[in-house]
Amino acid sequence: MQHQIYVANEQRYSNGMIYARCGRSGIQLPKISLGFWHNFGGIDSFERSREIVRHAFDRGINHFDLANNYGPPYGSAEKTFGRLMLEDFLPYRDELFISTKAGYDMWPGPYGNWGSRKYLMASLDQSLKRMNLDYVDLFYIHRFDPLTPIEETLQAMVDIVRQGKALYLGISRWPLQETEKAIRYLAARDTPLLIYQGRLNMLDHEPMDHGILDLCEKCGVGFISFSPLAQGLLTNRYLSNIPKDSRMANKSSLPSSLLTPDLMQKLRQWNSEATAEGITLAQKALQWVLKQKLTTSVIIGASSTAQLDDNLGALKLLANHQ
Ligand code: NDP
Repeated sequence: MQHQIYVANEQRYSNGMIYARCGRSGIQLPKISLGFWHNFGGIDSFERSREIVRHAFDRGINHFDLANNYGPPYGSAEKTFGRLMLEDFLPYRDELFISTKAGYDMWPGPYGNWGSRKYLMASLDQSLKRMNLDYVDLFYIHRFDPLTPIEETLQAMVDIVRQGKALYLGISRWPLQETEKAIRYLAARDTPLLIYQGRLNMLDHEPMDHGILDLCEKCGVGFISFSPLAQGLLTNRYLSNIPKDSRMANKSSLPSSLLTPDLMQKLRQWNSEATAEGITLAQKALQWVLKQKLTTSVIIGASSTAQLDDNLGALKLLANHQ
């Protein structure tokens, strides 16, 4: 089927999106970014994925977050993005900020996981091919590898930038001490750490409690929160039942055992507060993260454009508070 040629909305930068500087860098990121973990894999409808990504870009979301193994199957979210890149986004490449990651299970054998130079280099080469890109804007080490010497992982990152395959570097879910080491190592080689990706939301304050946010602030590193809606818990999705088309009904990443009576009570309470404020629970939750000092951006997921629009509504409230 012939797809309709995409022409991006001319108003995309005056539509209400807010851009924030990422740490002490030259890069500004949209306050709301879009992640490809779920809903963009080979099992999902390509046309639905296309609709969501186009809609996002039209509303000023120019940062898309991927990883080698997003799908399922592994690699297929990058392939979806690669097709969109060729069919829709080629004229807009320089307006986009694309990240990918390596660090988790990707291919069989000893070289398809964790933090060796061998894995990281091969994985990024594969990602670039799948995404039809010459370079990514941001390459992340997806998790800290306690068994590989940290210098090996970090030097691979430095060399990836020197090879021109990534413009900036990030780490995700690294412990505090190793994050400090990474910041020092990379700065000494003129390839400073741009950003730390961690889970921060109304239910999970780990990066705050573990000193990551303070460290980022001290060192001029940006912070971006993944799963700011706790995979959909912090929305109206589960207030009365578990909808058939929801992540909880269909994916192992959000088991229904999480939905305890205590949590239900909290969610309903926050939902009533949100309603009293004239906003949705999702907007309240995003606002909470975005108001934390130093949060550069939140990476949301969405299974529809309606969810995207609901989430983008959080920016209006933020603008009113600025
Ligand atoms: P969210 O917490 O935003 O959850 C997204 C899900 O919540 C959607 O798929 C949808 O679920 C539901 N949802 C979103 N908006 C609404 C709304 N307005 N109303 C009702 N339901 C809504 O983020 P994700 O957990 O998807 O993570 C976002 C991104 O973060 C990932 O794509 C990835 O890029 C990154 N990430 C990084 C990790 C890391 O280790 N670095 C780990 C996890 C994520 P439904 O499908 O039920 O409709």
